[in-house]
Amino acid sequence: MAWNVFKFCTALRGLGSVMILMVLGVVGVSYYAVVLTNYGPTLFESGGVASFTAFAVVLFHGLLAMLLWSYFSVVLTDPGGVPPNWRPVIMDEEGGEAVPLVGSEFSSPILFMQHQSTLISDPGDPRIRFCKKCNQFKPPRSHHCSVCGRCVLKMDHHCVWVVNCVGALNYKFFLLFLLYTFLETTLVTLSLLPHFIAFFNDGEIPGTPGALATTFLTFVLNLAFALSVLGFLIMHISLVMGNTTTIEAYEKKATPKWRYDLGRRKNFEQQVFGIDKRYWLIPVYSEEDLRRIPELEGLEYPTNPDLDSRL
Ligand SMILES: [Zn+2]
Ligand SMILES: [Zn+2]
Repeated sequence: MAWNVFKFCTALRGLGSVMILMVLGVVGVSYYAVVLTNYGPTLFESGGVASFTAFAVVLFHGLLAMLLWSYFSVVLTDPGGVPPNWRPVIMDEEGGEAVPLVGSEFSSPILFMQHQSTLISDPGDPRIRFCKKCNQFKPPRSHHCSVCGRCVLKMDHHCVWVVNCVGALNYKFFLLFLLYTFLETTLVTLSLLPHFIAFFNDGEIPGTPGALATTFLTFVLNLAFALSVLGFLIMHISLVMGNTTTIEAYEKKATPKWRYDLGRRKNFEQQVFGIDKRYWLIPVYSEEDLRRIPELEGLEYPTNPDLDSRL
């Protein structure tokens, strides 16, 4: 059942920002159950010296702050749209120079093919992509999102939980949101586990029936989220290591050698998380990384020459 939480949510696509309220509701109920009815009274009775409880409370708040920071970074960051009049840059086969396509005569892919026949030997060149819905060229790795109604740079998927597309500019923030959600929901599940066990062993359980029901609900919800997010997190770790988006993972099945695979370290640092380690665990990029890594802008992606016989 737990594994179907995300599938279930694709059915909730139309709900829009109600999903944000739902996320905040789960956070609020968990806060009530863990801090106010579980750890709070223990800390109060011990005068604040119960060291394990104090540690758990600090950890809970720290993870919650990181979770909300990452979450709203994904929600509020534009995943990346195609700049107006963007044109593909094609390498001139003879001179090896980059040739940007300019001029109004290249406004349609058919005209473009005719004019550039000396540069492109294969009219079905996968490097030239055009979106009929947006009526514009598509940068490499971008895809049209039918929910957003536009092309999104390095689109991964449209996420109902964040009411936004996950793409080039907010993918790292999305991964951090997954990571902190997994850690926080696991902490909540482990914190409430003794109550859950006591409930089934008919042991002494402190609290009102309302508090008990909330504790029970919070335990089940957080366990379901922890398991779902863990599956999702494992999948995305493997995608990051191969420099693949969720959409491209389907394309890759037809292409055994993936041309954007630059090796694990480069895939991790130069395509998603940045080189500066101090910024890996926060939803921000350093100024220097933004300056030295053009891929973080989402428009250009180097290919591995060993894997791409076309280039
Ligand atoms: Zn489009
Ligand atoms: Zn979208």
